[in-house]
Amino acid sequence: MPTFDEARKMVLSSVAPLGVERVSILEAQGRVIADDVVAPWDMPLCDNSAMDGYAVRAADCATIPATLRVTGYIPAGGEVTGEVAPGCAIRIMTGAPLPPGCDAVVPVEETDGGKETVTVTAPVAARQHIRFAGEDIAWGATVMEAGTLIRPPEISVLASFGKAVVPVYRRPRVAILSTGDELIELGEPLTPGKIVNSNALSLAASIMEIGAIPQILGIARDNVESHREKMREGLTADALITSAGVSAGDRDLVRDVLGELGVTQLFWRVDMKPGGPTAFGVYEGKPVFSLPGNPVSTMITFEEFVRPALLRMMGHRRVFKPLVKAVLQSEFRKKPGKLHFLRVRLTWADGRYQAYSSGDQNTGILKTMLLADAIALLPADRNVFSPGDEVDIHILSGNVEMLEPVNGE
Ligand code: AMP
Ligand code: MG
Repeated sequence: MPTFDEARKMVLSSVAPLGVERVSILEAQGRVIADDVVAPWDMPLCDNSAMDGYAVRAADCATIPATLRVTGYIPAGGEVTGEVAPGCAIRIMTGAPLPPGCDAVVPVEETDGGKETVTVTAPVAARQHIRFAGEDIAWGATVMEAGTLIRPPEISVLASFGKAVVPVYRRPRVAILSTGDELIELGEPLTPGKIVNSNALSLAASIMEIGAIPQILGIARDNVESHREKMREGLTADALITSAGVSAGDRDLVRDVLGELGVTQLFWRVDMKPGGPTAFGVYEGKPVFSLPGNPVSTMITFEEFVRPALLRMMGHRRVFKPLVKAVLQSEFRKKPGKLHFLRVRLTWADGRYQAYSSGDQNTGILKTMLLADAIALLPADRNVFSPGDEVDIHILSGNVEMLEPVNGE
């Protein structure tokens, strides 16, 4: 049985970025750019003023105060009409192109603000308050490499360089198949022994959260024909996720039917809890995840295996949430041998994350998942964890409550 790390390596080495599509710039937000971006011109495009003030020749201001004749005015967006002659100044606004002849800008605050003549009252250094052409990004420079996540700063650069359409990696269509005779769809009458097919929806939500496209296939009933039919359909997507039917029960058909359909199984158990009965295979280069059916196990195995794999398919280079340190505030015992994923609530105190068990850690208890801010990874080789122990966590979502010390305590 592979360890969690081994299993995750197998998953990630089985997937690769999908093809490329071209989308309009705002649709590119949160996507990954698929080509290098080379600056098609200098940014800024020309030398311009960094201040509202006067374009001058520094040499004319060698002795302070210096009085200069004002021979023009260039507003932002305005055009250069004349040059700055010796003994003269041109009034200029922030961002306006620099006229020829000058080599410095004097901020209006360092002058008397005159319109006909201006008196400069502070020393002037050559090149001061000028933004030079290309000083931010030079023409021809690679500003973004393929594989870069597009966030607002990238949008800003793309827009500045006139890129209305952006090549990005395609979003995978991810088929979701639930299995089990006990399942009913949301909206159907609930009777004892039945449960709502909630996994399809939680998986779809998790898929949407990372920007991939869910395709809900419905329910395969606990017979081979039903599994076969639904799985065939699922294998046409970019990835297939099944839930339940993957343990050792006599009705657990997922592995067998996937095998029959040509899916190559890479592993079918993992040394972790929850998530032990997780299987993974590949079909024509596409990943097939068989997740355990318990809603908590389904969500945790999605988080740990499926999420990073889908991110990689979408071209992301950074596919893992960072592991950060937290101080455990609850006692927890487990059998040694398996890596445990503990659902915890977080607070922030004494400059550190404080991790409290979010309650009953039985995989059948969904409420504890609801209350969890993070997952703590409790190493396989240890069995007793005590308040004060440092543990690795990764944060699921949301911000953390900041506990201020009360009355200086
Ligand atoms: P199984 O692996 O088929 O034994 O299922 C494990 C547990 O997960 C059982 O308690 C199922 O009722 C539950 N379960 C299976 N599929 C779903 C689903 N689609 N939504 C919610 N719970 C499920
Ligand atoms: Mg079942």
